[in-house]
Amino acid sequence: MADIPAECNIKVLCRFRPLNQSEIVRGDQFIPKFLADDSVTVGGKSYVFDRVFPTNTTQEQVYNTCAKQIVKDVLGGYNGTIFAYGQTASGKTHTMEGKLHDAHQMGIIPRIAEDIFNHIFAMDENLEFHIKVSYFEIYMDKIRDLLDVTKTNLSVHEDKNRVPFVKGCTERFVSSPDEVMDVIDQGKAARHVAVTNMNEHSSRSHSIFLINIKQEHVETEQKLCGKLYLVDLAGSEKVSKTGAAGAVLDEAKNINKSLSALGNVISALAELSRLQVESDCAKAEVKEVLQALEELAINYDHKSQEVEEKGRQNQQLADQLSQKMAC
Ligand code: ADP
Ligand code: MG
Repeated sequence: MADIPAECNIKVLCRFRPLNQSEIVRGDQFIPKFLADDSVTVGGKSYVFDRVFPTNTTQEQVYNTCAKQIVKDVLGGYNGTIFAYGQTASGKTHTMEGKLHDAHQMGIIPRIAEDIFNHIFAMDENLEFHIKVSYFEIYMDKIRDLLDVTKTNLSVHEDKNRVPFVKGCTERFVSSPDEVMDVIDQGKAARHVAVTNMNEHSSRSHSIFLINIKQEHVETEQKLCGKLYLVDLAGSEKVSKTGAAGAVLDEAKNINKSLSALGNVISALAELSRLQVESDCAKAEVKEVLQALEELAINYDHKSQEVEEKGRQNQQLADQLSQKMAC
């Protein structure tokens, strides 16, 4: 699969899972048609994404296209986020986590953990790294710490640079991929303990795994920080479809509210980058016009010098002529 250009700040990739056993038994047909790397046709309508992953795409291919570059960017001091969005049972958790301790079936998060440490071991020895991870979930607008279940209603604050963070959330220092896996295992166990039906709960809550990387050069003391948010969102199914009522309806409304807020944020970012592109184009056009005006002015200068010169020559000729006439 070809790489997606690195300059795209937001990428939307669409993965299809194969039909599951009950869908096959029911006689469901797999309708989407994959024509190119970035488009899919469903019911005669084509949809274009930055990349489309057909059902036979491996976890490794998904990782290479979705996450590999982000890991490098975060180690370069940038922040990044990967969201998995889709209906319940569409494959979000399979994509983000997969089978945690299985080399082929593990998803994006454990692969990121391995990749980060591989990069670090290959980097300048004078760089000192501090890697912290947090794991929390948002359920009914409340943030629950999955590494300390006594913290059930954490709040979001902004630091002095107006960057949001979850205040009081547990942060664990990690120094190897195995330690990251241990934290994920612990968080998942905590998530299971507090709920009666895990499938229902995970389809109604967002889970967020945050990796915070700080690095400092021991000689120059130059510092770099990068944060990576890995988000397994709640199911995107509509309230009306679930036939929900009472508390379940409240849950569904909250999920729809937060997902539509997320949709608004992404639309605003897309609009911002469209405006940025437009303003870049306008700037380029203005630059071209100014350049043309400058050339015109230089030309005009040359021309007026030529005219002046001609005038002087004509004057000389006229003077010579009148002298001759006087003789
Ligand atoms: P979600 O988190 O969106 O609710 P899951 O990730 O739990 O969905 O996926 C539902 C089921 O489908 C799981 O049993 C999972 O193993 C399976 N599945 C999802 N995606 C794939 C895939 N690409 N290939 C094979 N099985 C998949
Ligand atoms: Mg899930």
